[in-house]
Amino acid sequence: MNRFANFCAGPASMPTAVLERAQAELLDWQGLGASVMEISHRSADYIEIAQKAEANLRKLMGISDDYAVLFLQGGASLQFSAIPLNLGGGVVDYLDTGTWSNKAIKEALRYEALGLGQVNVVAKGDGKDVPSIDTWQLSDKADYFHYCPNETIHGVQIFDTPKVDAPIVADFSSCILSEPINVNDFGMIYAGAQKNIGPAGITIVIVRKDLLGKASPWCPAVMNYQNQLDSDSMLNTPATYAWYLSGLVFEWLLEQGGVEAINKLNRQKAQALYQAIDDSDFYRNDVNPQHRSIMNVPFFLADSKLDKLFLEESKKAGLLSLKGHRAVGGMRASIYNAVTLDQVLALVDFMNDFEKQHG
Ligand SMILES: *Cc1c(COP(=O)(O)O)cnc(C)c1O
Repeated sequence: MNRFANFCAGPASMPTAVLERAQAELLDWQGLGASVMEISHRSADYIEIAQKAEANLRKLMGISDDYAVLFLQGGASLQFSAIPLNLGGGVVDYLDTGTWSNKAIKEALRYEALGLGQVNVVAKGDGKDVPSIDTWQLSDKADYFHYCPNETIHGVQIFDTPKVDAPIVADFSSCILSEPINVNDFGMIYAGAQKNIGPAGITIVIVRKDLLGKASPWCPAVMNYQNQLDSDSMLNTPATYAWYLSGLVFEWLLEQGGVEAINKLNRQKAQALYQAIDDSDFYRNDVNPQHRSIMNVPFFLADSKLDKLFLEESKKAGLLSLKGHRAVGGMRASIYNAVTLDQVLALVDFMNDFEKQHG
């Protein structure tokens, strides 16, 4: 068996221990005589799996009973539409820092066009830096303020939660569980699972319960957070197997010492990689150092004619998926929780060797 170092941005690397456990439990889950995939989401066995996953996520993130935790489908992208329908209606503020926050704005604008609310973009970044908060044009009474703490494609991260008056809604798809946060600072946190949790197909929504119950009459039932809370995220058939795998990842993370422990490793990984980039004239990262993502590290070779060779040779060295997103070009290493420090150090060694040969 060969498991390479996988730097894919998403769906991304998962902990080997989790995949091994899923493999061991695949055909017969704990003596049930069937796979988790093959049982009713209404069965007592499945409900136990689902509730345990939620309880462990609450423990990992310190989520209080004031918040609902939902396990939904449709990816983070469907939340771009669900958020204005559930929490909007009046003026809604958005910070634009890159591809993903921009996509969220585009979906909110569809409702503005229908006369359902008004979208205010408070500031727009250039994909390399975040406009300073003193320049933001915040509304007086916004229903919410939306931002993306980690722009997966540009590698731009906002580490401090913005101090704004409106409830904060944040797309944590590529940085959830990578560093400790205070959930109480947020109105809503959401994340597609396939970056830092588990497989694609499930989306975590953590939303303050007092913000619910005001959804637009146009909101589809499966997108209505109050409906989903009332039915324990089982208004229709949930993504049962992805939910189970996410639960295994939460258990794994607790065994690693939780979010604080994994954050220490994440900081070491990012530090090693940025250091290698900064120490060389052969590689370059253009993001303001204060906003460099600890999860997604885009970098460029000084001579882009070597890009193809870099990708071929890195693959031969067991380092997968380093091609940058087409919107940015160059390379990108996504170093989520499941990517180990050793794997990142192997990438750094490869980069140094490649530079020696071709620099
Ligand atoms: C990947 C990603 C998305 C899109 O997620 P889907 O689950 O594919 O809809 C949205 N936001 C961020 C920050 C992402 O990284």
